[in-house]
Amino acid sequence: MKKTISIIGGGASAIILACELDRKKYSVSIFEKNNALGRKFLVAGDGGLNLTHSEEPKKFILKYTPHKFLDQAFLHFSNRDLIGWMHNLGVETFVGSSGRVFPKKGTKPIDVLKLMEEKLRKNNVKINFKHEWNGFSGSDELLFKTQTGTKKIKSNLVIFCLGGASWPVTGSKGDWLESFNQKGIRVNSFQASNCSFKIDWTKNIIKSIEGKALKNISISCGNKIHFGEVVITSFGLEGSGIYPLSPEIREGLRKNNEARISIDLKPQLSSKEIVERISQSNSKLSYTENIVKQLNLNKTQILLLKSKMSKSDFLDPLLFVNNLKNFELSISSLGPIEDAISTVGGIFLSEISEKFELKKIKNNFVIGEMLDYDAPTGGYLIQSCFSMGKFLADHLNELV
Ligand SMILES: Cc1cc2nc3c(=O)[nH]c(=O)nc-3n(C[C@H](O)[C@H](O)[C@H](O)COP(=O)(O)OP(=O)(O)OC[C@H]3O[C@@H](n4cnc5c(N)ncnc54)[C@H](O)[C@@H]3O)c2cc1C
Repeated sequence: MKKTISIIGGGASAIILACELDRKKYSVSIFEKNNALGRKFLVAGDGGLNLTHSEEPKKFILKYTPHKFLDQAFLHFSNRDLIGWMHNLGVETFVGSSGRVFPKKGTKPIDVLKLMEEKLRKNNVKINFKHEWNGFSGSDELLFKTQTGTKKIKSNLVIFCLGGASWPVTGSKGDWLESFNQKGIRVNSFQASNCSFKIDWTKNIIKSIEGKALKNISISCGNKIHFGEVVITSFGLEGSGIYPLSPEIREGLRKNNEARISIDLKPQLSSKEIVERISQSNSKLSYTENIVKQLNLNKTQILLLKSKMSKSDFLDPLLFVNNLKNFELSISSLGPIEDAISTVGGIFLSEISEKFELKKIKNNFVIGEMLDYDAPTGGYLIQSCFSMGKFLADHLNELV
């Protein structure tokens, strides 16, 4: 008789896992609380479905915090394998200018999801919608809230794919921590990642710079520096230029209740080059106009600098350069978890084996964003979910 596998949750990691489990060996069922699969996968595709990144695998894996737990899975199913998997599914991809990988123009996220659902059907996966997992019974059965009452399910293998806690409207609420806690499995409370970061702008400055972007800048926090672009909001800062610093910012907040970031507003030029350019004065222009022209600065950058510098400091080339290249800001908190792109927190990595099996509940596995790790935007989140799903499917296929 075939062994039974219950997959709880129907997001990115569950879908690839179920697509890849061997139907000759296993009878596979997905239990999803919504009446549709992959809601967060669709939300992720709102601004273009960033499936993975084209970076060299050796550098790619270092983007995860920590990365050791994912090494094997990523080696087994890397970004290149994901592109190949999508190709076999019928989804051609292209690499954008930032190195991010997207489905080719004209292919919508829902098209990708439909092709994956078709693959699930061909693989005989039974999908049970409106099944909300509520914990374990005394005899380790799975308890589900359904439209007709509580259902108990016993299965040979169980794979949890419940996701993180951001964007709860997609179904991933992270409200399952207590069910694992009760089994003695250590869980960490959720925190926002790849989110907005609070800066206490003064009223005067924010009214002039709200909504403006700072492009081609680098930001450092702790030991990490990241190059990119951020948007200034009334809440603070957000964007791909600051998201990868989420682990360092959270650490600063944890230790000191504030995280200090330093922005280099002109990373392409050294301090020496900047001083040289400033000294090439044009007598027809004011001092500020000359700086703007020589350094190609915009109004937002000048307003930010002036908000932190006295007039005499601004007029001093060395102090000006120092501020331009080390513009310091203090972050006082993380943005709301509901609006974050992802979360950290969930099941501690020390609770799972290298095959993602829970050490305290044999034959029960955990994959995807419900594990306590961090990854920046840029395709690294979906890639990690796909790597874990494919790795686990191949591991289980070899067991029987
Ligand atoms: C706005 C936004 C943009 C993003 N953009 C990108 C991007 O460009 N690139 C990228 O790589 N990643 C992106 N992500 C992140 C990516 O979508 C997630 O990391 C990924 O979907 C996580 O997959 P998962 O399978 O772990 O969980 P999810 O996809 O969250 O799936 C979990 C599933 O479990 C179900 N569930 C939860 N609790 C229960 C329960 N008790 N019983 C039954 N079912 C349950 C949920 O309804 C859900 O369907 C983005 C996310 C957001 C919110």
